Amino acid sequence: MRKSNLNTSPYHRIVVKLGTSLLTGGSDHLNENIMSSLVAQVAQLHRQGLELLVVSSGAITAGRYKLGLTKKLRGIPFRQVFSSVGQGRLMLTYEQLFSRHNITVAQALLTKADLSDRAGYLNARNTLLALLELRVLCIVNENDVVAVDEIQEAKFGDNDNLSAMVANLVDADLLLLLTDIAGLYTADPRRDHDARLIPHVERIDSKIEQLAADTAGSLGIGGMMTKIEAAKLATASGITVVIADGGEPDVIVKLAAGEAIGTCFWPLTDKLESRKRWMVSGLSTRGGLVVDSGAARALRKQNRSLLATGIKKVEGDFQRGDVVTVYDHKGAILGCGITNYSSSDIGIIKGAHSKKIATLLGYDYGSEVVHRNNLVVL
Ligand code: GLU
Repeated sequence: MRKSNLNTSPYHRIVVKLGTSLLTGGSDHLNENIMSSLVAQVAQLHRQGLELLVVSSGAITAGRYKLGLTKKLRGIPFRQVFSSVGQGRLMLTYEQLFSRHNITVAQALLTKADLSDRAGYLNARNTLLALLELRVLCIVNENDVVAVDEIQEAKFGDNDNLSAMVANLVDADLLLLLTDIAGLYTADPRRDHDARLIPHVERIDSKIEQLAADTAGSLGIGGMMTKIEAAKLATASGITVVIADGGEPDVIVKLAAGEAIGTCFWPLTDKLESRKRWMVSGLSTRGGLVVDSGAARALRKQNRSLLATGIKKVEGDFQRGDVVTVYDHKGAILGCGITNYSSSDIGIIKGAHSKKIATLLGYDYGSEVVHRNNLVVL
């Protein structure tokens, strides 16, 4: 729970996401004064012994500005060129600003494809953890130069989702999504004067998603929608998430101390173990299983494994050992888990009693299609 003591932080490992509109102060180029104040706050917490990672946008804007080109050039090839020009400039600025605080910085450019297999995920994780161990401040961005969204699911596309993935990867306690708006509102605050800030969200349900959709559009690449998606992923892994205005004085320091600023999303569970966080990330999901209402209840309420008898439908093409999403009978995501049977096996055994599996398939990997220990209920 959040405390309001400025000297002792309830958090140890914090991922801070800095959005383009914050870093530019709404202009067409990086604003060094704003960046310097954000860096000073990160440096202060770093000095106090906290572990921080920064996920920073701004490369595309910095590149576009350097080339003197207009906002109208927006297509993917332009974005790739802009980010390759701008990423160096972005890093140069961070390098200079952090060196005033005697902090060494590192750069990590990630793509979704790199993290989609377990080995890539673990390699990235090991590097980021080693940097934390060495007290190097790592600045992460998506590798926009190579990440293309023509390849389905190959791109995070926005740094909100990337930052949730990074928080998940390093097992952070707190994810700060800093932008130019104070948090999630009951309505769009730019249009509706009665809009009120929502101070905390216990669970992201369809009502919250609708609010985010209503206020989408004007904020950076993702807007509120992608922030809510990011919050959903991170809170499912046991991470507290705050959306707040990065322009508010000392906001990072205050949030790290547990002060209630912006909108706080409470973690849904205790910290998940690493393997389960990887499953929840959705990076490696190969297919889906739709279960009946009895199975949905047994998984949600009784902590049971998923048996063949409760499965109504199998989607996608996957092998034994792959990660699958489990849907309830209404199509809502119930969780995700590692399957003991391939999609073609499940096509044959779905609806059947466990005792019949050996007869139906000619072999048997046990009665659980997804064992409880390999299942995360969301
Ligand atoms: N990776 C992009 C950049 O550095 C930003 C993506 C985003 O802001 O969500 O410019």
